[in-house]
Amino acid sequence: MSVMLEAAHSRSSMANPANLVGLDREGLRAALLAVNVPERELRMRTSQLWHWIYHRGVTDFAAMTDVSKSFRAALGDRYVLSRGEAVSERISSDGTRKWLIRFPDGNEVETVYIPEEDRGTLCISSQVGCTLNCRFCHTGTQGLVRNLTAAEIVFQLLFARDSLEEWPSPGEPRRISNIVLMGMGEPLYNYDNVARALNIVMDAEGISISRRRITLSTAGVVPMMPRVGAELGVNLAVSLHAVDDAVRDVLVPLNRKYPIAELLEACRTYPGASNARRITFEYVMLKGINDSLDDAKSLVRLISGIPAKINLIPFNPWPGAPYECSDPETIVRFGEFVNRAGYASPVRAPRGRDVMAACGQLKSMSVRQPGGRRGRDT
Ligand code: SAH
Repeated sequence: MSVMLEAAHSRSSMANPANLVGLDREGLRAALLAVNVPERELRMRTSQLWHWIYHRGVTDFAAMTDVSKSFRAALGDRYVLSRGEAVSERISSDGTRKWLIRFPDGNEVETVYIPEEDRGTLCISSQVGCTLNCRFCHTGTQGLVRNLTAAEIVFQLLFARDSLEEWPSPGEPRRISNIVLMGMGEPLYNYDNVARALNIVMDAEGISISRRRITLSTAGVVPMMPRVGAELGVNLAVSLHAVDDAVRDVLVPLNRKYPIAELLEACRTYPGASNARRITFEYVMLKGINDSLDDAKSLVRLISGIPAKINLIPFNPWPGAPYECSDPETIVRFGEFVNRAGYASPVRAPRGRDVMAACGQLKSMSVRQPGGRRGRDT
């Protein structure tokens, strides 16, 4: 039985019944067994539930029209179909939306939707807070509160689809076409739950977002990187941000554990990387820190031989941040150099800055309480 379902069961009572949303097929199967569905029907019933939960997005057993009334009632007696609750929605003047989602234990994460002309990207969180403490990142100032469960990772997507009203309407383009794991947290420090969630999201009979439209961003947890390529096959983004270890040690303290050479070796050998599927190197532009032409030259030298593109991210400020964003001309010059060396080097347009939804600006009020209790600091 999956860990999630065990957790769900331990909370199970009439007052707080177990939630089926967010379970994988194995978890649903176990939930069906628990209401005495005979072995021979398990496969069919699991598929039915899967279809209604992940393809149709229903939140009420009554909507499951091909399930008999009595069985719907049995499910309803024991289980619920719920998502996290949104505490707030903020919509930027550029159309970016940011939701603060609260889970039953009171912890909160942020999820961001970024509409563009040819796509809509949902930026998902993997942890409440983060352990990495990157010097330029707002989430880092929060510390880690806890890992999200697989269900909580999936909720963010289901929730966004509810809000955007995008449950199946044949022929219409999807509002959420792409997913990036670039919200709060380090996904590779919560790999098992992230993997389970992505397998739910990628399942062709459910939400069905292809691995080619999913990008996982890591600050460089080197030992986990091969698994991402081999087991999930999603696109990889790496938060490089500096070209020598002395600077990167300060910006991304994880570098002391996995220095640049090891990180780039893991990129060179990333399963499935090719010219058609390049690794994205994220590079935050910090004035006077990592933005010189010499830095650009070193960058090009370092990544030679890796099918790569460089995503230049103008630093997004937050209250008390110790850095400034590079001047626009400096960013252009840096980008042109990298581009002339043969690498695409798009500058990531800051989105949603006015509602603090841009890269590195996310932070929730959840704090780790002494003695392991968790809650909010307000
Ligand atoms: N922990 C993962 C996922 C976070 S992704 C990782 O580090 O890759 C968020 C991206 O935004 C990362 O590249 C991060 O380094 C970058 N970022 C963080 N703070 C930023 C800021 N203030 N301005 C611009 N980019 C920032």
